Amino acid sequence: METLTDRDFCPEWHDALALLSRDLAATEPEAEPFAPLLDAYGVFVGFRSWGAQGSPLREEAGLPEVADAAQESAVEHLWRTWPVCPEHGLGLHPRLREEDGAKVWWCGGRGPASGHGTPVGTLEARRTISRRASRRGRKRWLGLR
Ligand SMILES: [Zn+2]
Repeated sequence: METLTDRDFCPEWHDALALLSRDLAATEPEAEPFAPLLDAYGVFVGFRSWGAQGSPLREEAGLPEVADAAQESAVEHLWRTWPVCPEHGLGLHPRLREEDGAKVWWCGGRGPASGHGTPVGTLEARRTISRRASRRGRKRWLGLR
């Protein structure tokens, strides 16, 4: 598959992939950024060194569809759930938030209503584990076991 480098071809996809790659870098520091990959069937979202999984993007695809495609390739390539809610440890799914139309990663875990969304491009590394681990480490260090 050939990497689509021409930004003019579909600028929204490049912008969407920049946001998604930021989320990927924040949560999977080892992973390479997402790339738009071209073959005879169309444009896929995947990784330069690996290829892509799933279907080509429809011409009118916006950020949610690009996020869907990116997620499909990431899950296959990383061989684990991606992305994961930093707070709840649950798998996230792209959707438009009803209240404000924001493009978010949606988590079914407990939030203000039922579930909560994190705007695409603003994911952070999972903190609960490291916080808990550091608390445990501190207690052990203090002799509290
Ligand atoms: Zn959550």
